[in-house]
Amino acid sequence: TAAPITTDVVVVGAGPVGLFQVFELGLLGLRAHVVDALPHAGGQCAELYPDKPIYDIPGIRACTGRELSERLQQQAAPFSPVYHLGQQVEQLQRLADDRLLLTTHTGTRFAARSLILAAGVGAFVPRALKVEGADALVGSQLFYHPHQLGHARSRHVVVLGGDETAVAAAVACATAQDAASTTLLHRRDVFTGPDALLAQLADLRAQGRIQVVAGQPAALQQAADGRLQALEVALPDGSTQALHADLLLAYLGISPKLGPIAEWGLELERKQLPVDTARFATAEPGIYAVGDINTYPGKRKLILCGFHEATLAAFAVAEQLSGQAPLLQYTTSSSHLHALLGVH
Ligand code: FAD
Repeated sequence: TAAPITTDVVVVGAGPVGLFQVFELGLLGLRAHVVDALPHAGGQCAELYPDKPIYDIPGIRACTGRELSERLQQQAAPFSPVYHLGQQVEQLQRLADDRLLLTTHTGTRFAARSLILAAGVGAFVPRALKVEGADALVGSQLFYHPHQLGHARSRHVVVLGGDETAVAAAVACATAQDAASTTLLHRRDVFTGPDALLAQLADLRAQGRIQVVAGQPAALQQAADGRLQALEVALPDGSTQALHADLLLAYLGISPKLGPIAEWGLELERKQLPVDTARFATAEPGIYAVGDINTYPGKRKLILCGFHEATLAAFAVAEQLSGQAPLLQYTTSSSHLHALLGVH
């Protein structure tokens, strides 16, 4: 295995608080590696309410979840954070020299002197297809929320799900991707998405280019060598139907999983990490927690509170790393900060 990435600080979670954390660390001269299970930054704002307006970010009358994520990324950009997206941090170990060793599910490793958990309500991971044998097909014949559909060409594709992402994938397979056949499977014959997309689905159904099936995935039919040949579906009337399939694209939604963080031996209070309110440090040396994941007397799960927490955590990390409390400098007047920010 490759040597771990050596760094001062790793931030787990690229939600609004993790992103602002990167900015505050940057002002103190620290460059962060940021890991998130999602393929994009923004946490709950980007995943749960991208188009809804937020009204309680100081100084911004209203902005959507997506806009806030974009603004925070732009603000942090001068500090060139290294994003490791689409990776769930799975393991945490303490090295003999006291550094922390983090390992993601794809095998990326970090050796860091400090770790800031900005992990919100847990890693956003796709809901799994719950039929026997499905796990072994992930990455070959089963893909969760794929963004690239090039491998659908000439394949018998079953798309699972009923929301916009699922409908868009089925439409793309039946048109641009030129699949051999496209089936859209959802528990009910009801789909959500923009009107134009639903109209396209209706057209393709009428032309027989997309087959819609209402039912629940029940079992896989595989060849002797393990290759998937069909997906057995339980229909509402109690019968079963086998759908010809050599590629499954699952859009079953995303749900947060505290998962590994709960297994790292850190003290938890109702699934949250207790911290002190001066440093936002956990009881474990070098491990801090900010945003929705932490708890302390008076805690409120609000983005603006997370911004304050991230600011104090950055000062605490800088002090831990250098042995000295950093000076407070104003962004308006400090030429040192102007140089870091690349402004004049
Ligand atoms: P999150 O946004 O939850 O981000 C955490 C990130 O960490 C996630 O992307 C997750 O994938 C990642 N992560 C976790 N564990 C791991 C791991 N092991 N490996 C890799 N990645 C991991 N707040 C307001 O202040 N104002 C509002 O108007 C408002 N409206 C809201 C509306 C809705 C519908 C919801 C659901 C929440 C709203 N909130 C609002 C709350 C706000 O979204 C949260 O307080 C905020 O998102 C917390 O930010 P965070 O960065 O701490 O965590």
